[in-house]
Amino acid sequence: MHQLKSDAEIGELLHQHGIHPTLQRVLITRLLFARCTHLSAEDVFRLVNTEGRRVSKATVYNTLGLLAEKGVVREVIADPDRIFYDPNTQPHHHFFDVATGQLTDISADQIQVTGLPPLPVGAQLEGVDVIVRLRPTK
Ligand SMILES: [Zn+2]
Repeated sequence: MHQLKSDAEIGELLHQHGIHPTLQRVLITRLLFARCTHLSAEDVFRLVNTEGRRVSKATVYNTLGLLAEKGVVREVIADPDRIFYDPNTQPHHHFFDVATGQLTDISADQIQVTGLPPLPVGAQLEGVDVIVRLRPTK
């Protein structure tokens, strides 16, 4: 996982992905990479505004969508109400605790996926993402 320190490095990362590094995009990207954790759009909205800036919800959502589309971060859809933005774009899997909403990484080598059905004609495998859903034991 990248450990980006300066705004210049973040600007460069955005640039490499074809994104014009506006101040707000740099702010949001820095937040995601500084924490190296999975954040929802709501988390990002809350955190970016505690830094004393005023970034609108629309800007946060649009920026996260753009970062995911361009491959700067990965979108993890744990359920339709819980979309996380993950600065770790290397192949890996996740535990998702349905009670707490906590998403935790599982390294790629800890899960082997076998027995995939034949792929449709004209398609090649892009990747397999596993979300292991957890709930508390009774
Ligand atoms: Zn992850």
